[in-house]
Amino acid sequence: MNLIDFTATELLTQLNAGSISAEEVTQSFLDRITACDDQVGVFLFRDGDAALQQARDIDRRRNGGNPVGKLAGLPVAVKDNMCVTGSPTTCASRMLDHFRPPYSATVVRKLLEEDAILIGKTNLDEFAMGGTTENSSLKATHNPWDLQRVPGGSSGGAAACIAAAMAPLSVGSDTGGSIRQPAAFCGVVGMKPTYGRVSRFGLVAFASSLDQIGPLARTAEDAALLLEVIAGHDPKDATSVQQTVPGYSSSVQQPLDSLRIGLVSNHFGDGLDPQIDSALQEVVKIYEKLGASIQHIELPHTRYAVATYYVIAPCEASSNLARYDGVHYGHRTNEDKMQAELAEEQSQFAATGNETGLADLDSPLVRMFRKSRSEAFGPEVKRRIMLGTYALSEGYYDAYYLKALKVRRLIRQDYDQAFENVDLLLGPVTPTPAYGIGEKVDDPLSMYLGDLYTVSANLAGIPAISLPCGLTNEGLPIGVQLQGPALAEDCLIRAAHMYQQETDWHQYRPPLNE
Ligand code: GLN
Repeated sequence: MNLIDFTATELLTQLNAGSISAEEVTQSFLDRITACDDQVGVFLFRDGDAALQQARDIDRRRNGGNPVGKLAGLPVAVKDNMCVTGSPTTCASRMLDHFRPPYSATVVRKLLEEDAILIGKTNLDEFAMGGTTENSSLKATHNPWDLQRVPGGSSGGAAACIAAAMAPLSVGSDTGGSIRQPAAFCGVVGMKPTYGRVSRFGLVAFASSLDQIGPLARTAEDAALLLEVIAGHDPKDATSVQQTVPGYSSSVQQPLDSLRIGLVSNHFGDGLDPQIDSALQEVVKIYEKLGASIQHIELPHTRYAVATYYVIAPCEASSNLARYDGVHYGHRTNEDKMQAELAEEQSQFAATGNETGLADLDSPLVRMFRKSRSEAFGPEVKRRIMLGTYALSEGYYDAYYLKALKVRRLIRQDYDQAFENVDLLLGPVTPTPAYGIGEKVDDPLSMYLGDLYTVSANLAGIPAISLPCGLTNEGLPIGVQLQGPALAEDCLIRAAHMYQQETDWHQYRPPLNE
């Protein structure tokens, strides 16, 4: 068996026993990347030599009898919206082409402290806005199960990376489903932790009240291992929760007794692909067999979740992205060219005696902002900035933004009530399996509707995990979502592990030729 076929937990056992070296592990994954990444398109940046160097250093320390970290020798891929000191951090945007952050995200720092090997930065939708990774301005990522299909997004690179065995672990970010949806499309495990469970320091902000970093892996057990390292309070993130991190990886094996599972009635109706529906019914049967009780639950306000999310997220994005003006941050237009254009326009108006036209010309500064932003942001990012700016503007603020905040509270209350009666909720991650590349690019509304089952967890701030639970007739992965009350990651992980002990969907591999 090739080393890339092992789970992170299995690799770690062998690394700790000294039967394999960090260098061998790293080299195996680098070889896999060399063999497959031209087809899949996972990585935006990687430095194989630095990774090998890091691995050798860990081996040396371990062989010398020195202590090593919890993830010592395990390659981890990082979504390219998290800062790594001195390395490109592009958010898949032309805006950040030349950005080299002077600091690392807390998550990256924690990974390095535990001796994880940073194997590279993965592709995403520009600034994490999207659900297919097609909004990346830098490259396309393909679904390893069918290269003609999207991997999902925005953490499409992170999910495809795990599915194609280019790293055993990766970290993504989830604002409205961006870890769980690509995990479902690519047949891997992805978890969005409770808002505040993982520090957002050094994660380039999309919508700050919704963004959360989380793990992607093949198994719940591996996700537990990674979450345990990246979670925890951070004085650099005022929204991070001040609670100690439970030992997720030590409790993952403990089954949950008398688990109470809720099925959200309105999540199983029209619009859900029948093959996904029947795969979920099978999951329910497994849990029943494991002793869980099943109840039907209403979350009446989640029918407004997509509308609510698509007001709040763009509002926050329009504010967060204001910093990319070519002065504080980001691409700056060619000023010589711009000055020349301005002079040309001025002389045209002057020649025609058009005083109004002359007066209407932007000042050089405003022109510089406008041109810099127009040149470097892609169409979806521009759309979100416009939507958000509109919804926040005077006269519309109350009707859109404030209203959305109120509905957000009602959605959270629905969950609070549900969790008085059940331990977790079980349902779909996505209404359909992965669709074709290019199929929805011109239809943003239908793309937004695909986020139907994922955005509520972000609006409510609760944790949710996506697990592979089947394959369609066409051989495409199907995901099941478990959602739990705030800070119940432990329960979700244990429930997910129980399921994976009974089934083998997480062991299926895409038919990818090297
Ligand atoms: N698809 C959603 C969006 O485009 C979610 C993105 C995310 O979670 N980053 O906003």
